[in-house]
Amino acid sequence: MVSLVTHLEDLTTALLHLTTSIFNSINFIATFNKIISVHLKLSAMPGDTLLINNKAVMQNTYDAIVIGTGMSGGWAMKELTEQGLKVLALERGRNIEHVKDYDTATLNHWEIMHRGGLTHSFTEDNPILVRSGVVDEFTTKMFMHDKEHPYIQDKPFDWIRGYQVGGRSLVWGRWTQRWGETDFEANAKEGIGTDWPIRYKDIAPWYSYVEKFAGISGNKDGLAQVPDGEFLPPFEMNNFEKFVKQKIEENFPGRNLIISRTANLTKPNSIHTSLGRGQCQARDLCSRGCPFGAYFSTQSATLPAAQKTGRLTLKPDSVVHSIIYDEAKQKATGVRVIDSLTKKTTEYFAKIIFLNAGSINSNLILLNSTSNGFPNGLGNDSGVLGHYIMTHNYRVRAGGRFEGMQDSYYYGKRPNGVYMPRFRNFGNDKQTGFKRGYALACSSNRQGWQRGSNMEDIGVALKEKLTEPGPWYFFATAMGEMLPYHDNFVWPDKNEKDEWGIPLLHANISWHENEDLMAKDAVEQMYEMLDKAGLKNIEASDNHQAPGKDIHEMGGCRMGNDPKNSMLNKWNQLHAVQNVFVTDGACMVSSACQNPSLTYMAITARAANYAVSELKKGNL
Ligand SMILES: Cc1cc2nc3c(=O)[nH]c(=O)nc-3n(C[C@H](O)[C@H](O)[C@H](O)COP(=O)(O)OP(=O)(O)OC[C@H]3O[C@@H](n4cnc5c(N)ncnc54)[C@H](O)[C@@H]3O)c2cc1C
Ligand code: SF4
Repeated sequence: MVSLVTHLEDLTTALLHLTTSIFNSINFIATFNKIISVHLKLSAMPGDTLLINNKAVMQNTYDAIVIGTGMSGGWAMKELTEQGLKVLALERGRNIEHVKDYDTATLNHWEIMHRGGLTHSFTEDNPILVRSGVVDEFTTKMFMHDKEHPYIQDKPFDWIRGYQVGGRSLVWGRWTQRWGETDFEANAKEGIGTDWPIRYKDIAPWYSYVEKFAGISGNKDGLAQVPDGEFLPPFEMNNFEKFVKQKIEENFPGRNLIISRTANLTKPNSIHTSLGRGQCQARDLCSRGCPFGAYFSTQSATLPAAQKTGRLTLKPDSVVHSIIYDEAKQKATGVRVIDSLTKKTTEYFAKIIFLNAGSINSNLILLNSTSNGFPNGLGNDSGVLGHYIMTHNYRVRAGGRFEGMQDSYYYGKRPNGVYMPRFRNFGNDKQTGFKRGYALACSSNRQGWQRGSNMEDIGVALKEKLTEPGPWYFFATAMGEMLPYHDNFVWPDKNEKDEWGIPLLHANISWHENEDLMAKDAVEQMYEMLDKAGLKNIEASDNHQAPGKDIHEMGGCRMGNDPKNSMLNKWNQLHAVQNVFVTDGACMVSSACQNPSLTYMAITARAANYAVSELKKGNL
């Protein structure tokens, strides 16, 4: 043993002297990281520049690095730490501490400067964010403001981001439907895009796994489009929703209105309470952050689970510039990070890297990770990186008013809606001239747009009228599948850079004929269904909004069986660099029409567990 140590010490000392005189680059140090680490343990010498760098290398070395701490990154952190790995989680945004930093969570409208409204200057400065309709005065800090991280729209594309610990898991709508078998098979059957390398049966156990931990409320509806999962008790539909459900299901067999499956804890169990999570109070103020930890977010669930292991290092304000690739090892060795505040660059090293920066940013990081081996972006032998970007087609809205049921009330503010799973081109419903289908996200209330400011009275008369609820209203948004197109792509500008020295992103994404045909059909069908349900003053229209506003961007680094036309294998490893896993929406091969985040969670948990098993076998 002694002679082995002496031998190693001699060997590494000799190597260090040699390398000091020839190379002094961090990349080289990273290549010899293992040997140097051995040397450091044996003979660290104060004052030796290279050794100090080596010490930094050691300090900056982890088993795994997770880039991004949002919905999918949270799952990577949790799974990898729970499996025993020492994990560094890098997040470009600021830290948001659970509960402590939800500073508007309990405010009433009269307790905030503009009663919840947005100022003219905010609206003028943030046309993209404001257009999305998801922000109000209570939540302005939860979203990236337009000017803080510009990008170039070759075609109009609304990119809605949440740069902070927790990412957009803090502000999401929490709708969580599984994909069905049809969704994983459609590309292959229709010859569109490329085939998914996995099927429903591969992901089903992981859906169950993430549902149990996240806490998904829902009903077992027995519908093949949205297979049943591991549900907590569902929220209850109000009487009017039950009425609309009955009318639609009578008139349109095969079209079902169900309570939306939602990541809100209706009845927490020990998995949830052990993390300090409590029951949902039905306040519907979730996007301000929940003081009860009652909806699933990184902060309420995956982050505390990862922190419990004692193996997580979380670094906010750390913008990942690129992934470092070692040509000799044909592996990624780490990442280059720029401190978002000081702009100082640091390198961190690990055996495996999980890329979870949110679909478009994950594309940008890979495209920006160039080397001799990969001049067009890491793992981009096929040239498909950045292409086949998808989003969801949310262009069609419909709504109407109902005169009856004035003696029917509801209590509380349920934080979810009702949902009609896809019906077109499915089962016995009509086979249309377009591919795939759309689901409907619906809601109803007794306020509507005529309450308060639009009412004619003033003073006491107005106040008295306001004590009685208004008529029933029902609203629906079509959530359509977008097909993968090669000419929907993102790419880094060659000259223009952001303030962290990262190329500005170009977005070249547009609707195609299939999305237009689908939108036309949705207008007609939604009108017809609301009409049959007895609603009046129905408005149904296609607002032709630009892609992106649905906030479900996907693709660009798709999975596939063939490395010639895909980036990732069935375990989400880059075909060409197997210790890099991409498990956010960038990996998606098609977009289905269900809200996507539950699928990102399941894919991430599956890939993380595979990564650890491969690491243990010495394969990574
Ligand atoms: C208002 C709203 C409602 C939504 N409703 C639903 C819904 O009902 N159901 C549903 O399924 N989905 C919904 N979504 C979408 C959902 O939020 C996203 O699908 C999900 O958050 C994506 O997870 P992610 O991990 O890929 O990205 P994110 O959650 O966005 O996390 C990415 C993280 O990476 C960080 N990052 C980016 N670049 C870098 C970099 N270079 N270096 C370091 N860190 C970086 C970001 O700051 C961010 O924290 C909604 C979104 C919004 C905004
Ligand atoms: S509705 Fe439920 S999950 Fe949302 S903020 Fe209120 S208590 Fe929390």
